[in-house]
Amino acid sequence: MGVGHSSLSSCSVDSLCITAFIAQPKTSSFSNSNRQKPLFPTKKQSPFAVLKIGTLNCARVAGEMEIEKGIAAAGKPIVDRHGIDDGWIQKIVYDALVWSSLHGLVVGDRNDQRSGKLPGVGMVHAPIALLPTSFPESHWKQACELAPIFNELIDRVSLDGKFLQDSLARTKKVDAFTSRLLDIHSKILEMNKKEEIRLGLHRSDYMLDEKTKLLLQIEFNTISSSFAGLGCLVTDLHRTLLNDYGEALGLDSKRIPGNTATGQFAEALAKAWTEYNNPRAVAMIVVQTEERNMYDQHWLCTLGITYNVRTIRKTLAEIDSEGQLLPDGTFLVGGQAVAVVYFRAGYAPTDYPSEAEWRARLLMEQSSAIKCPSISYHLAGTKKIQQELAKPNVLERFLESKEDIAKLRKCFAGLWSLVDADITKKAIEKPELFVMKPQREGGGNNIYGDDVKETLLRLQKEGSEEDAAYILMQRIFPAVSPTFLIRDGICHKDHAISELGVYSAYLRNKESVIMNDQCGYLMRTKVSSSNEGGVAAGFAVLDSIYLT
Ligand code: ADP
Ligand code: MG
Repeated sequence: MGVGHSSLSSCSVDSLCITAFIAQPKTSSFSNSNRQKPLFPTKKQSPFAVLKIGTLNCARVAGEMEIEKGIAAAGKPIVDRHGIDDGWIQKIVYDALVWSSLHGLVVGDRNDQRSGKLPGVGMVHAPIALLPTSFPESHWKQACELAPIFNELIDRVSLDGKFLQDSLARTKKVDAFTSRLLDIHSKILEMNKKEEIRLGLHRSDYMLDEKTKLLLQIEFNTISSSFAGLGCLVTDLHRTLLNDYGEALGLDSKRIPGNTATGQFAEALAKAWTEYNNPRAVAMIVVQTEERNMYDQHWLCTLGITYNVRTIRKTLAEIDSEGQLLPDGTFLVGGQAVAVVYFRAGYAPTDYPSEAEWRARLLMEQSSAIKCPSISYHLAGTKKIQQELAKPNVLERFLESKEDIAKLRKCFAGLWSLVDADITKKAIEKPELFVMKPQREGGGNNIYGDDVKETLLRLQKEGSEEDAAYILMQRIFPAVSPTFLIRDGICHKDHAISELGVYSAYLRNKESVIMNDQCGYLMRTKVSSSNEGGVAAGFAVLDSIYLT
């Protein structure tokens, strides 16, 4: 996600902070407090080497610069990017900042209070990697191939209400947020309501484990999968930079795969709107009250331009006060019929500060509007369900193709419930090999390192059922590579690890599958020294991939 419109998250969600990259104050996983979504650390907090570009002499054109140490011969990728001459780096950084400003690769500036509310006010370039990160072509193809299979799996899981309720039954007892989602799901089951038209706009996140060379899934996001818009722009930026500097750097812009996530997401939303078949109805984007990642969302407005579908943006509180459910299931907001509800909010407890927001969620769910995601899709994307699906023989319950099942299983990391005493013991002994995850989206909620051990020991001592709130996951260790990360106009030279997110869209009307496609990608890169989900300051940026 993503991190609050205040942040850049890894997440399913809209954050601008990539979860693990960010320092987070510890809060109870279950509190419904107004936790601030993680933000990038301030410059002061960033413990990384900084290349100041203020002194850049722009009059020095690239051709005049000497290609010094570390520049590879054209055609061969540079192994040590930190070997590139500083003068070149400064010039490329300058061009990247100009390009980002001119092309809408921007987010709200947290230094401007109005930047989360008003478009066009207080904008800053999005945090970006200066150059694309190397990624093996074979693993890229594998990730793309998995997309339609995961789409189908999630759709089928969403139809199995009993599986969702049973799998989350223990979690429900101890996690108030998941419990509320399950209550809505139960009400829908009681109504015997069928979602004939189902739309999923997903992002499956992976890390490439260095030791085993396995592409392993981090999580599957079914709600508010963010950065399709800005991710496409980073791809364009990197291609542009390599067109200008690639020859000197030994990098070929054609090795960066094209990224059409924005267009394909807009197309899926437009097709869903068409299926709803009410030419006067609008598409509604459910947003948070403040959204610093609003430009990523506004990029989907091609929906209006290309497809002539009118969109409105509403918060859950506004939907509660303006929403009306007609007896035939039509959902009206401010008197307008809504064909498609696209959630860029509603994934975190903080999105529901009062009963009004929960009322709005239920009302939409009860309506005939197409929800992206429906409550079932939302639940199917929880970490607990990810862990249940990884158990032996569970995929077989949903999919027939042995080949597809094998492909999915190959990308599953070790996933366990805390009921497994052997694994819990192992995690206490070697906590650095595990990540502990609550049922949360948006980043900054996971537990790492010694905190895993402490939390497990505490849970054992208390003997409560709170263990059901978490899953344990094998920690994945991707390769570390030298990189340049730009934030707030400052270029940081550091070593980083990356996470590849592959977008996908699924649209179905009864028996007819209208869309089941992979839709572009998002690379996120963070400093390898950051204590993920822990206390140390972190720093993550949007990136693209360079196929090797
Ligand atoms: P969220 O829903 O908050 O985004 P994730 O499961 O994606 O939760 O975890 C957040 C971040 O933590 C990821 O983006 C990744 O950087 C890191 N992370 C999660 N799981 C693992 C893992 N098993 N190994 C290593 N890093 C992980
Ligand atoms: Mg995530």
